[in-house]
Amino acid sequence: MKKKKKTAKPSIDAVLPRFAKIVGEKNAVRGGEMEPFLREQRDLYRGKAAMVLRPANTEEVAKILALADKTKTMIVPQGGNTGLVGGQTPFDKNAIVVSTARMNKIREVDADANTMTVESGVILQNAQEAAANARRLFPLSLGAEGSCTIGGNLSTNAGGTQVLAYGNARDLVLGLEVVLAGGKVLRGLRKLKKDNTGYDLRHLFMGAEGTLGIITAAVLKLFPAPRAISTAWIGVPSPEAALALLNLALARAGTALTSFELMPRIALEFDLRHLPGARDPLSSPHPWYVLAEIFGDDETRTRELLESLLANGMEKELVIDATIAETNEQRNMLWKLRTGMSDVQKPEGGSIKHDISVPVSSVPAFVKEATAKVERMIPGARVVAFGHLGDGNLHYNVSQPVGADKAAFIAKWEAVNDAVHAIVAKYEGSISAEHGIGLLKRDLLAKAKDPVALSVMHAIKKTLDPNGILNPGKVLRAKISGGRKS
Ligand code: ZN
Repeated sequence: MKKKKKTAKPSIDAVLPRFAKIVGEKNAVRGGEMEPFLREQRDLYRGKAAMVLRPANTEEVAKILALADKTKTMIVPQGGNTGLVGGQTPFDKNAIVVSTARMNKIREVDADANTMTVESGVILQNAQEAAANARRLFPLSLGAEGSCTIGGNLSTNAGGTQVLAYGNARDLVLGLEVVLAGGKVLRGLRKLKKDNTGYDLRHLFMGAEGTLGIITAAVLKLFPAPRAISTAWIGVPSPEAALALLNLALARAGTALTSFELMPRIALEFDLRHLPGARDPLSSPHPWYVLAEIFGDDETRTRELLESLLANGMEKELVIDATIAETNEQRNMLWKLRTGMSDVQKPEGGSIKHDISVPVSSVPAFVKEATAKVERMIPGARVVAFGHLGDGNLHYNVSQPVGADKAAFIAKWEAVNDAVHAIVAKYEGSISAEHGIGLLKRDLLAKAKDPVALSVMHAIKKTLDPNGILNPGKVLRAKISGGRKS
């Protein structure tokens, strides 16, 4: 598409060598070698770009953003390329991807301060291991942890399976280093627990998905490593029972209750059909399951706490049957059943996705209402609603009816989204609990967000990125005249 230019901009071909010079020819990727950076892992999106830059450090990122601002070149920051909403994918042949993959140093582990300073390209699992080596815990944990990066985790404010006790990614950050659109570096790598010196700027960049700046390093919070972990797979009659059990567990274990995941029988059945090595942990089927985990400082005491909780749950008819992991292998297997639930939907055909949250107390009513609605809309549709009950966050996915036409089912994506999100709105919930907005939910955000909040977001974007070069068109619809369009 051609459009009128107000000011003459150098052509992309003229500026690419200047960008390449910043990182060195070897780290300026072009042509077919860009493929891994353009392809979204589920093939939901297919990107295009002019170049991928792999800077080595913050200074190189600063030079890139200074040049990009001057030449109005679109920049798409990318970490591990594991995002689920298209936030990391470039969609313009004139865009430049800035990959943080080479910025992967753990700069410091300060065990006494319970902090760790890492660069944004550090893979989450490597950060977890560095903490463990110092007998500390970095509690952010999610399915993609073997390949996602800290920068991506913070940019999307990732959630995962231990939010209940430790909070979202943004809650695990004390300090942040960010490169701004003009190339200035906001140096905020501080280890302070208390710092009331004006606006808390770090939280602007977390959850902003690279639209306000590029996070290059962070000071992360560490916690004592648990000496004992007890994990149970629990058959429950209903989400109502699971909610009552959650509150019983919180009353007894408090913050030692680190995970409380809810899963329907159908999700386990998908596991049993498609996940290698999967077997049903209990001897007979149950309508719903909970995966609960308690951290403690003593093996026996931690197990006893979990056992007495389950016994109490059975007395109250909240628990039908349960098993406790006896070994680390068994614990891993239980978790594999839970984390495998994302992948095993694919072989069952089309799946319409939602990543919603509602107040924890409203989860059972939400599930009932949304499921009735979806089943009315598409008779035979299979609702696979699983996720983090402790956080009120469900991956409310809908698999196609058995034997249905996949394309015809997927064509109902928007209608199903609208129906489910209307019920989310009724319960004052969120249409994006932990995956972010990216491109996938950008237009939904514009409809669902409070209009005043939305206008504040646009104002912040305009202030921090006046030329609209940072991940344009993600999170917010681009309203700017800058940003090179093809
Ligand atoms: Zn999740």
